[in-house]
Parts: sequence; C-alpha cells; structure tokens
Amino acid sequence: MKPASFEYESPTTVAEAVSLLQQYGEDAKIIAGGQSLVPLLNLRLARPGYLIDINRVKELDYIRSVNGGLAIGAMTRQRAVERSEVVAGQCPLLREAVLLMSHPQIRNRGTIGGSLAHADPSAELPAVMVALDAQFTAVGPQGKRTIAAEDFFVAYLTTALEAGELLTEVSLPAWPVRTGWSFVEISRRRGDFALVGVAVTLTLDPSKKVCQGARIVLTGVGGAPVRRQQAEQMLAGQEPSDARFDLAGLAAAEGLDPDSDIHASAQYRKSVAAVVVQRALRTALKRVKGGA
Ligand code: FAD
Repeated sequence: MKPASFEYESPTTVAEAVSLLQQYGEDAKIIAGGQSLVPLLNLRLARPGYLIDINRVKELDYIRSVNGGLAIGAMTRQRAVERSEVVAGQCPLLREAVLLMSHPQIRNRGTIGGSLAHADPSAELPAVMVALDAQFTAVGPQGKRTIAAEDFFVAYLTTALEAGELLTEVSLPAWPVRTGWSFVEISRRRGDFALVGVAVTLTLDPSKKVCQGARIVLTGVGGAPVRRQQAEQMLAGQEPSDARFDLAGLAAAEGLDPDSDIHASAQYRKSVAAVVVQRALRTALKRVKGGA
C-alpha cells in the first residue's frame, strides 16, 4: 500500500521544526529515520496531513562526552552509536542493546530519538534508558524541558512528549565505577523485536565481594519498560552468587502481567523474564570482575 497524501516540510533547525509543529498542530508528524513511521504510513495506520522531516537538522546529530557521561542528539543514527568508540568506552550497555536492534540496514537510517519517541513496548533502548537514569531534553513552543527516562515512557507507544514538542537530546550520567552490565533478550530471529528482554547493571563494593546495587529493567512485558525494584533490593548488600541471581530472576518475574499475542503467550513471557534476568546478572558479574 502507499501512504495517504501529505504535505512535506524539511526544516534545517530545531527552531524551525518546532515552529512548523506549532503551525500544523495535531495534523503534523515528525519523520526521522522513517523505519517505524513509514510502515505505519504505508498501512495507513498513520495519516498525518504534514510530515516534518528533521533529517536536515544537523544540530541534532552528535555524540559528545560530557562530564564523564554522554550527550546524544536525537538525530544520531543507531549505527553511529553502535560504531562509536566513545559509547563503547563510556556506556557499553547502550552499545550492546543497539546491536540487538533490527539489522544494519535499518540501523543505518533509524535514529536514537526516533526509537525513544516511538516507544515500542518491545524496544531495547527504552529499557536501557530507564536502567541508566537517562534524561531527555524536549523543545517545544514553551522552550526547553528535561524529562527523566522513568517518567518519559508512559504506555504503549506513548511518551511524556507533548503535542508540539521535539525530542532533541538524551543524556546519560557517567558510568558508575565497578559496574557490570548486560542486555539479554529472546527473540524469534536475530534482529526481531524482543519477545522479552532485560537491561541489567550490577555494581560491586570496593572488595568486589558484595553487591552494592543493581538495576533490572525489562522490555516486552508491559506497555512501557518495567523496572523490578524488588529483585534489585534482593541483591543489594548481598554476596553475588548463582543462587541469589536465580532468586532475583524469579522475583523479577513475580507479579508481571504481560500480554499474550501471536508471538508468545503471557505465561511464556513471564517464564522467560526470569531466565533473561538470571543470565544477564551472571554476565554482568563476570564483566565487573573482569572475566568477560
Ligand atoms: P521514525 O520512524 O522516523 O519515527 C518514529 C516515531 O517517532 C514517529 O511517530 C515520529 O513522529 C517520532 N519521532 C521521531 N523522531 C522524533 C523526535 N526527535 N522528536 C519527537 N518525535 C520523534 N526497533 C527496536 O527497538 N528493536 C528492534 O528489534 C527493531 N527491529 C526492527 C525490525 C524492522 C524490520 C524494522 C523496519 C524496524 C525495527 N525496529 C526495531 C524499529 C527501528 O529501530 C526504528 O528505527 C525506530 O523504532 C524508529 O526510529 P526512526 O528514526 O526510524 O523514527
């Protein structure tokens, strides 16, 4: 199928893009990499009257090291993140997750901002952003504001961005010391959306014998990323071990209420959630101890 007809705008600055969003209101849609939006247009599930293409807004394409953390412009291609040595060095969890997203051809076009603004409930990046306490910058007619990742993802394909707002930047704090990481997912084929996935960080104390803290954030089991604080608390102050990780995995799956769909039943997703958490914790421990 072909999209319904639309008017096309191609601004070159953030200010111009925001002004066009304001001018056309709810009938306008931003297009970035087009890897999620174009299929929706072709299926006529989205029928905007105006497409505002931000591919020429060069000020949104960057990866910067800032105070030990990272600032990434919304129009940065997923492939650029995957290939960035700065990202590999300062935020290895992000790189690992990006490599699991779709295929190189799609990552060549798909952007960081597009994935986050689209907020697919099975996407990898939203879980990573919540696990790492990312902050998002949005610019709208009222100016600039910052939104914490845990407040940004509201529900299925829904974010805290307001009508007329453009996501412009993601910033990630400095990688915490003595912290291992892992993103583990189960998908039907490599490159498919995750049936269930998890972003994990595990921080050890200076002796590297006791877990100081952990972050466990699941994707594919709800409308938005699901943080499992109870499981995190079971690890804090404890000696990390396979037995403890097994318990944490079971606790992470406890109380989940995923949907059933043609790809997997709710019960399957719950069972897999426990397993991916257990695997991710083991890998994170190996990494923080320098064994992997
Ligand atoms: P677009 O498609 O251009 O836009 C998506 C939505 O975000 C639109 O509603 C648009 O208006 C809005 N938007 C875009 N940028 C902004 C902005 N700066 N501010 C405000 N709103 C904005 N994704 C995964 O996470 N994991 C996968 O495994 C995966 N597999 C895929 C497999 C296939 C075959 C395909 C086609 C896609 C897959 N994707 C997957 C989706 C892909 O990662 C997309 O690139 C991503 O979801 C959207 O990014 P985009 O830049 O293409 O955004």
